[in-house]
Amino acid sequence: MATILDGKAHADRMLEVVRQGVEARMARGLRAPALAVVLVGDDPASHVYVRNKAAACAKVGITSLEHRLGADTPQAELDALIDRLNADPAVDGILVQLPLPKGLDSKEALHRISPAKDVDGFHPMNQGLLLEGLPGLRPCTPTACMSLLAHHGVDLKGLRAVVLGRSEIVGKPMALMLLEQHATVTIAHSRTKDLAAVCREADLLVAAVGRPGLVEGSWIKPGAVVVDVGINRVEDPGLAARIFAGEPKKLEAFQAKGAVLCGDVRFGEAMDVASAVTPVPGGVGPLTIAGLLTNTLQAANQQG
Ligand code: NDP
Repeated sequence: MATILDGKAHADRMLEVVRQGVEARMARGLRAPALAVVLVGDDPASHVYVRNKAAACAKVGITSLEHRLGADTPQAELDALIDRLNADPAVDGILVQLPLPKGLDSKEALHRISPAKDVDGFHPMNQGLLLEGLPGLRPCTPTACMSLLAHHGVDLKGLRAVVLGRSEIVGKPMALMLLEQHATVTIAHSRTKDLAAVCREADLLVAAVGRPGLVEGSWIKPGAVVVDVGINRVEDPGLAARIFAGEPKKLEAFQAKGAVLCGDVRFGEAMDVASAVTPVPGGVGPLTIAGLLTNTLQAANQQG
């Protein structure tokens, strides 16, 4: 049986480090770091994420400033708000919650955020610094995954790593961070030929595709470490029966509730083959917010 890499426990460790960092700032007479969250429209999942972020900020002493705009907000108004937040010395970090409603250009908004306040690490300046291996604000999810791997003593040097997915948010930055730590990295995606065979070469497999249960147990090299970034809601009974066959408790939960969250990896099957696996939920999910608050503290400390 593989070890379960507990993301919640590691997120708590990361948040404790942030809490102490905030305390140290305040002991030096500086104000608490402040994170401005811009929420446009009424996407229910986004409202839940923003609530969770505000709760996490409160726990560690970061000030959370929420800016809500209607779904029909014109781009110019969103841009003007970002400009005001960029210029506001009382704001250290700016996060524009994605996805934005139709009609708004998320790239335009994200590129407008000052790189010094870009706590999501999505600005091209910060992505460029990552590419060069220089310090900057780095995307929260892969940064927190790297922290989890380091905590569990996974030695990345020379390891064969496969990253499934090539998004700007997870796949690409994750691959760069693994490369920086001397792993030999393959990035796979929807056009990759014989994905199963590519995955089977991985000593470390990171799945970030958004396809429930895509990675079967037979795709995993015995003894591999598996990091499952995917968060998917499964409502189809046929799919649930297939992907939760090795996970009777999950199947029971599905039958009771009619829907469950799961990752891109078939967790039950992975547990029989891998040496360590992150669960979903309770794996990478809680780490992302911890990464965000780590970045907010970093941004505040860099701005004085
Ligand atoms: P994107 O949709 O931006 O990217 C998905 C990637 O997966 C793309 O590169 C795509 O390939 C690839 N892909 C899609 N289908 C397949 C397939 N059948 N075989 C191989 N590759 C495939 O997603 P994100 O990177 O934003 O997110 C990925 C997952 O991670 C989602 O489930 C998301 O909810 C979750 N997530 C979780 C976070 C957390 O906190 N735990 C944070 C961020 C995301 P191509 O480029 O060729 O289209």
